[in-house]
Amino acid sequence: MSDEEQKQTILVVDDEPANIQALGNLLKDEYRIRIANSGEKALAMVQDGDQPPPDLILLDIQMPGIDGYEVCRRLKAQPETSGIAIIFVTARDSASDEEYGLNLGAVDYIAKPFNQAIVRARVNTHMSLKRKTDLLERYALLDGLTGIPNRRHFDNLFEKEARRCLREGQPLSVIMMDIDHFKGFNDHYGHGAGDQCLQRVADALNGAMARPGDALCRYGGEEFVALLPGTDAEGAREVAEHLRQAVEGLAITHKYSSVGPVVTVSLGTATLDTNRDPEADRKSLLKSADEALYSAKEAGRNRVG
Ligand code: GH3
Ligand code: MG
Ligand code: MG
Repeated sequence: MSDEEQKQTILVVDDEPANIQALGNLLKDEYRIRIANSGEKALAMVQDGDQPPPDLILLDIQMPGIDGYEVCRRLKAQPETSGIAIIFVTARDSASDEEYGLNLGAVDYIAKPFNQAIVRARVNTHMSLKRKTDLLERYALLDGLTGIPNRRHFDNLFEKEARRCLREGQPLSVIMMDIDHFKGFNDHYGHGAGDQCLQRVADALNGAMARPGDALCRYGGEEFVALLPGTDAEGAREVAEHLRQAVEGLAITHKYSSVGPVVTVSLGTATLDTNRDPEADRKSLLKSADEALYSAKEAGRNRVG
């Protein structure tokens, strides 16, 4: 990754070009600067899903149209944007203005005219905190053993993709999978070997996922789940068969399985047809995939149910 890509992003919002320029010049060496000269443009930029949101917003309060308070209020009201740090930079310098701004959820409040060194120091403090928070959040969403997204991450993704597929009239498929006779594997080869097996299975499954929008997550102990936005029922069964083969292809010896000599998985698929059933309950999609997985187990394992 280049320096430019690693730089954190600051959005400077002010209706006065001179203020934008002053703040931009002050911070452009260390941060990537984006600018908006109105509250409307700031909201449009931040809510545009194509660009990653800025790490910090330096927000003027008095602007024609949507003022800074309202921009802050709207961003804090949306889960997708509520985590963006906001610092008000404003000529309104009374204690009650400051209190009001901080109560809206801003992390700091800087009065204009500002002292350059103080602005830089405060911005640096918040950006360093933001970096740490981002890192912690990333770890909180990853499974420690396999390094793939965990169940919490899956729940978030599932919500997001379900909403998106519904909006765009796309199908959404899930595949639930479970390692066959894994208790026997642990009992005979030991927990360490069991852990290693889980890592290798996760790698193989991950490697077999083809589309960039697809996601594989660890759902529980020896259970994984794949989320396939835009994939219909037939496609999901194909992917599932591909995943099944990927695990079998690892050829990890398992002498204590009723299925065969190697570690295998059973899989169940389910698809949300958003065109036919826009009201469909998302929870019931997971339940259907689980039921399909159960029938794959019943039918002899190492298969797609
Ligand atoms: P089935 O084919 O019906 O799925 O049988 P199974 O033995 O795989 O199912 P069961 O639910 O009885 O056993 C799951 C086993 O997975 C038991 C548990 O010890 C093991 N397991 C779950 N999480 C981990 C883990 O993180 N590491 C290891 N080594 N084992 C785990
Ligand atoms: Mg202004
Ligand atoms: Mg199992």
